[in-house]
Formats: sequence, structure tokens, C-alpha cells
Amino acid sequence: MRLTVIGCSGSFPGPDSPASCYLIQAPYEGRTFSIVLDLGPGALGALQRVIDPRELDAVMLTHLHPDHCLDCTGLFVTRRYDPRGLPSGRLPVYGPAGTADRLAAAYEGIDEHGMTREFDFRRLMDGVPIHIGPFTVTPRLVNHPVEAYGFRVEHEGKVLAYSGDTDACDALRSLCADADLVLADSAFVEGRDTARGIHMTGRQCAQAALDAGARRLLLTHIPAWNDPEVCRADAAAVWPGEVELAQPLAVLDL
Ligand SMILES: [Zn+2]
Ligand SMILES: [Zn+2]
Repeated sequence: MRLTVIGCSGSFPGPDSPASCYLIQAPYEGRTFSIVLDLGPGALGALQRVIDPRELDAVMLTHLHPDHCLDCTGLFVTRRYDPRGLPSGRLPVYGPAGTADRLAAAYEGIDEHGMTREFDFRRLMDGVPIHIGPFTVTPRLVNHPVEAYGFRVEHEGKVLAYSGDTDACDALRSLCADADLVLADSAFVEGRDTARGIHMTGRQCAQAALDAGARRLLLTHIPAWNDPEVCRADAAAVWPGEVELAQPLAVLDL
């Protein structure tokens, strides 16, 4: 499978990156199957450098904080009002409870249908795998102030684990077990951020990935107010190999 980082700025768009969005693609039935994990502010624009949004096969939202879902309102516009006509079928949008209402509320003045004629809203359930195209995606509830999931994406024996937004938690052990790549929320900094139940430091990301037997660590969700090298150094205190930082439009093949 191919991961393209569309947006990796934590909590809000940064000067060089949209907020959270990761495009996952693999060949399927003679074409490329494409899903996005999260669609935060700015991501829909950057996504169009890589793919026509009409070709998306699904959107999977880890949680409903605005930095992970608000560009679904723009995606809705592309599906309702494109003068070329509508793509066939509704686009599956997976999310926590209340996703349809949350996105409709973000779009001021929408009609009584909300976004339900454009999007096929489906509820994520902890530990229940979703078989979609060539992928199996298993959501796991993580440790964040709202209903929030990490995603374990499996394809032909390869595993990509995306933590979503989370503090360190037991669910990361199964989420990241033997993963080829762990994409981990590294918004917090050791010695600075003491609030619990929100985000991880680089060190916590590295420990979670190490405990789970993961092979590669990619830090993400770093806000513009952080020095990314501080996050990397926090992780390097624990992680034995190279600590990688997500970069916009980086392409990683697993
Ligand atoms: Zn976030
Ligand atoms: Zn969040």
C-alpha cells in the first residue's frame, strides 16, 4: 500500500502543511483504490495535487475535532454542486457517533437531507474490522477527550498503524502490534505538556511503538508552535532506529 501524507500539522494548519489527512492507496480490481484517514482544514486543497476527490473510495475520521474532519464540508460541496454532475453512489464516511450531525452543523444552512445524499455515514466500532476494497481497517478506541479511534490498516501482510489523537493507552499495543509503520500523534513535548488524556510526546510514541514491536516510527500531528526536532529528540531517547517526521506530500510505500 502507498501512504501519501496530505496534511500532518497538529491541531490547526501550519504554514507548510494542512491539518491531519493521510491518503492510503493500493491496486484493486484493475484500478487504484483510495481512502483518506481524516480530512482536516486545508487538506482538501492539497489532496487535489495527488488525486481528483471524485476518485476517493472512502473517508475515515478518527474523531470529530475540527482539525480532523472540517474539510468534509468542502468535499460535500464537490459532490453536491460539481457542474460536471455527481460521482455515482454515495461516498462512505466512517466516523464516531454523531458524525452526520456534526458535519451538517459545520455547514451553515444545509437542507433537511444534511449530507446524507452525498455521504453514506457509517459508525466506527471499537475492534470491529472494516473490509473496504483491498484494505482491512480496524478501529481502536484511544485516549482523547472525545470518542476517538486509531486505525490499523492492513494490506497484503503489511500493517500501517495510525494513532489518531491519543495519550498513551493500552489500545496502542494491539493497534500497533508488529506494524511496519506507526504514524503517531506527537503533539506534546517532554517537560512542557503535563495534561493527560490528550496527546503523546515523542517519547511516548516511541515507547508505544517499541512495546508493540513496530518496525518504523513516523511522528506526526506536530503543531506549528513546536520545534519538530525537539519531538524527534524526545522520541530518539527511546527509539533505537531513525525517528522520522511526517512531511506534507511525502510518499511511503509499504
Ligand atoms: Zn488533532
Ligand atoms: Zn483531537
